[in-house]
Amino acid sequence: MNVLVVNAGSSSLKYQFFDTTTGNVVAKGNCERIGLDGKITHKQLLSGKTYTAELAMPNHAVATRIVVDALTNPEYGCVKSMDEIEAVGHRVVHGGPYFFESVLVTPEVIEKLELCRDLAPLHTGPHLMGIAGCTEVMPNVPQVLVFDTAFHQTMPAEAYYYPIPYEMYEKYKIRRYGAHGTSHRYVAGEMIKLLGKPAEETKIITCHLGNGSSISAVKGGKVIDTSMGLTPLDGVIMGTRCGAIDPAIVTFIMEKEGFTPAQMSDFMNKKCGFLGVSGISSDCRDIENAIGEGNERAALALNILNYQIKKFIGSYTAAMGGLDAIVFTAGIGENTSLVRAGALEGLGFMGIEIDKELNNSVRGKLTKLSTDNSKVQVWLIPTNEELVIASDTEAIVKALNK
Ligand code: ADP
Repeated sequence: MNVLVVNAGSSSLKYQFFDTTTGNVVAKGNCERIGLDGKITHKQLLSGKTYTAELAMPNHAVATRIVVDALTNPEYGCVKSMDEIEAVGHRVVHGGPYFFESVLVTPEVIEKLELCRDLAPLHTGPHLMGIAGCTEVMPNVPQVLVFDTAFHQTMPAEAYYYPIPYEMYEKYKIRRYGAHGTSHRYVAGEMIKLLGKPAEETKIITCHLGNGSSISAVKGGKVIDTSMGLTPLDGVIMGTRCGAIDPAIVTFIMEKEGFTPAQMSDFMNKKCGFLGVSGISSDCRDIENAIGEGNERAALALNILNYQIKKFIGSYTAAMGGLDAIVFTAGIGENTSLVRAGALEGLGFMGIEIDKELNNSVRGKLTKLSTDNSKVQVWLIPTNEELVIASDTEAIVKALNK
């Protein structure tokens, strides 16, 4: 099936065009500066032909039209006409308490997604615009929503409930939702295949470490806990996000610095993490370079991450009553050997042993990092969220046609 996978942001629309029979991406691209002026960067992957243009994109519908034109272009496109686009799959950041799995877009689904605006104000509006854009340009093509929160919906109440008055949960739906669920689901699924035993018997910790980072405990193929919370600010230190801090720090800094709630939110989301601790950069590559030059605050930033990952591994192993495998994925997980080695250092007592030389040399490709003596397997598994979105979309749309 030909599936267009769309990731709509406030001023951008990223896309990948999948042929699900081969699992290959045949074209991909990005529309940027929607609502400002507009630029498309497109690549046909079979021929390697590219197309870049500055075109007016006043809204997501116009951007969608431009994407469809690129996909159907005889020179750098990949299909003859719009009729060959069989389905659209959207990445959706937050499904609130309403969505446990991927769904077909219907008017009822849009109504429920509207209710998620408060939970992900920066993302939900743009998603809705992306869906509306596709509906306008391709009214007869079925659309599917795949939620970053859905895989985490299996958490038990003691893992997702915060110790605040129950009315806050009832009134505002404040609870742990988690994030990066599509990535955790993909790598956990791949890890289950690699373990070669029934999914129900597996205990896996998945570490999605990128600009935003989250760690999940996946027992029997289902998430039982995850490090991100109501929002993607919770959990471990990130590029510019603080992760979990003593909640009293929030009011303390607000009072001392005279910050409004919006300023405090901006501070915690954009000024903390690697950037705030190191004073250098939010990017792990810059942090690594600075460590190489002997910068102590850069080393501290990375040590905080390693220590926090180690603590999550310990606590999630306890929560699951054992551990079969640890997976590292996303930008840092796939590329930064210092983090993988640092996080696992001293965990020999848990039966975790990695091949240090192999760990140092490998980047971005499927690799078993643990030694044959290691009781717990450790793997680098490159994530592929778009493939999950394309597969879910295909499955839902095929079921419709039956
Ligand atoms: P996002 O959360 O934006 O999707 P990524 O998963 O792309 O983030 O991860 C970005 C992080 O991965 C950055 O801190 C970056 O420094 C780090 N990283 C380290 N090495 C590489 C590399 N070779 N390529 C891409 N990112 C890398």
